[in-house]
Amino acid sequence: MFLFSACLPGAFVYAADVSHSLRVTLVPGEGKIQVEDTITLADGFSPDGFDLHGGLEVNATGARVQRTSSTQRNGVPLAHYRLGLEAGQRTFTLNYSGRIVHPVVNLARGAGPQQASTPGLVGREGVYLGPGSFWYPRLGEDDLDFQLEVVVPPGWSVVSQGKRIAPELVTGSGPFVWSEMRPQGGIYLVAGRFHRYRRQLGDIEALAYLRGDEPELARRYLDATVRYLPLFVELLGDYPYDKFAMVENFWETGYGMPSFTLLGPTVARLPFIPFTSFPHEILHNWWGNGVFVGNGGNWSEGLTAYLADHWLKERRGAGAEHRRAALQKYAEFVSAKRDFSLDEFKGRHDEASQAVGYNKVMMFFHMLRLRLGDETFIKGLRRFYREYRFRHAAYADIRTVFESVSGLDLEDIFEQWVRRVGAPAVQLKDADIKTTSAGFQLQLDIRQAQQSAAYRLRIPMAVWLQGSERPEVRYLDLNALQQSFELVYARRPLAVQLDPWFDVFRRLLPGELPPSLGQAFGAEQVTFVIPEKARRATRAAFQQLAERWSMSAEKVRIVSDADLDALPQSGAVWLLGWENQHLSTINTLLSAQGVRVAAKIIEVKGESLARTDRHVVLAAQAMGGQKSIIILLATDDAQAISVLA
Ligand SMILES: [Zn+2]
Repeated sequence: MFLFSACLPGAFVYAADVSHSLRVTLVPGEGKIQVEDTITLADGFSPDGFDLHGGLEVNATGARVQRTSSTQRNGVPLAHYRLGLEAGQRTFTLNYSGRIVHPVVNLARGAGPQQASTPGLVGREGVYLGPGSFWYPRLGEDDLDFQLEVVVPPGWSVVSQGKRIAPELVTGSGPFVWSEMRPQGGIYLVAGRFHRYRRQLGDIEALAYLRGDEPELARRYLDATVRYLPLFVELLGDYPYDKFAMVENFWETGYGMPSFTLLGPTVARLPFIPFTSFPHEILHNWWGNGVFVGNGGNWSEGLTAYLADHWLKERRGAGAEHRRAALQKYAEFVSAKRDFSLDEFKGRHDEASQAVGYNKVMMFFHMLRLRLGDETFIKGLRRFYREYRFRHAAYADIRTVFESVSGLDLEDIFEQWVRRVGAPAVQLKDADIKTTSAGFQLQLDIRQAQQSAAYRLRIPMAVWLQGSERPEVRYLDLNALQQSFELVYARRPLAVQLDPWFDVFRRLLPGELPPSLGQAFGAEQVTFVIPEKARRATRAAFQQLAERWSMSAEKVRIVSDADLDALPQSGAVWLLGWENQHLSTINTLLSAQGVRVAAKIIEVKGESLARTDRHVVLAAQAMGGQKSIIILLATDDAQAISVLA
């Protein structure tokens, strides 16, 4: 028998496990939602129940539904229902209503960026409902498609994934209908008193939903959409959705959903966002929201960071600087105890997880590109996107695709960077020049200083030769903890540098790192020195700040300056307050940089600044054999300290 394929290549038919047809009424003032959901199950998908937000009352038509248990997940009350259907029955309807009100809370973890979040909220300031709130019945499906019709109060409008459909297009007001028939991981429902702005980009609608009438702000985002989206189309292939919308949220976020991004009011107004985070969120429609993350590690953040943030920098000649900063974050925040492998990364929750899940993954793709060459790398990306669009993909799938486009066995690079924890620390131990009859012989001793087995690395080395401005670049293959190399040059080598453009993922050496606050935040040993002579309110505020920041470090000591003869010689030392008796130490350290801090003034390179009402944070690396980093944090305003805490 000979079978012809039912589908033409390229006309792939997607079939999701579940189809929802939802009619929703929102009453934001009362926190209420009312839904009629007609559910159709795909052939072969036969769930025996579903989960729904526990605050909702359910009535079923065409199915037997029984509430069997209640639990909590991430702060959301969940009710589990058993579902009884007739043999062969694929469609039934659920009517449910109730309140979903989880106020936005700060999920601060230690020092560093604050993150606010809610699993779901129907409120006067706006509506945010994602899959995590279980606002629609979840049947254990891998994917779903939906049509969503929403009634909101006058003046409100609604955003979801997919395409806007009449009657909104005709009437300009509700009900609002969104439809997405390509497989999705979940359904988002966002509503608010939006002003809507639009522009057409071929078949794609570019939209901006703002909470005020700000055409200038909207223009910045629509311009950026029209500018970046076609760049990514050219690089990777068709945009997978019908629209892209920038939506202003009612708390601070930088979320990327399929076909829209939810930006907080402050974030949205930062002047650089349309050129940095915004293209990153657009690109997530290919990686993460186009190809979904499957089992194992989340590769989508690092790949998006590489092809948006890094690529846009690289186009302006700043790729090496971007990679150096990425490696610096890893060196500062990821101590051995906080490190983990790429296939364990799910999402960021602090600086350390971001330095691995974003920065190390970004460097992994950079190294993969250098190994394959640009043409093969881009061919691989395009094929990966084409073959896995609206499907789940894991690192193993990425490897399969890149092996097939390159014809290479890539097991070593995936094993070493995806499965293995840590980073090599590559040191140029010694360099010597001998004059021989063949020319100048450069002898190098290179060490891998990490506390684990040797990495296999192809590391670029730049050698500056007498009489030429540009360095000559050669590649060294490293595979042992100690290695010697001999290279011959026709002219005298003047200087040599390993990996000068930060092309290899590695732990930067202390000399490659400027002292910074990040290093202090990442330290495992932290000492806070409280000034005894300060006013009581100031002292109390510093004490509170020290206790609050202590949560992010392993070993913490909070001491009064009077009880301390000398500053600790390792870890991070926070000198708090102008009155601190150990202020002179930081003056000694900073004098080389031309900075002096005194009772009433700060001098920077000979210029005096009056210090009244000034908040100062200075970081200095201790000298000599000491490994500590010392930070002065001083202010005259006790209230400013509480803000930091
Ligand atoms: Zn991202």
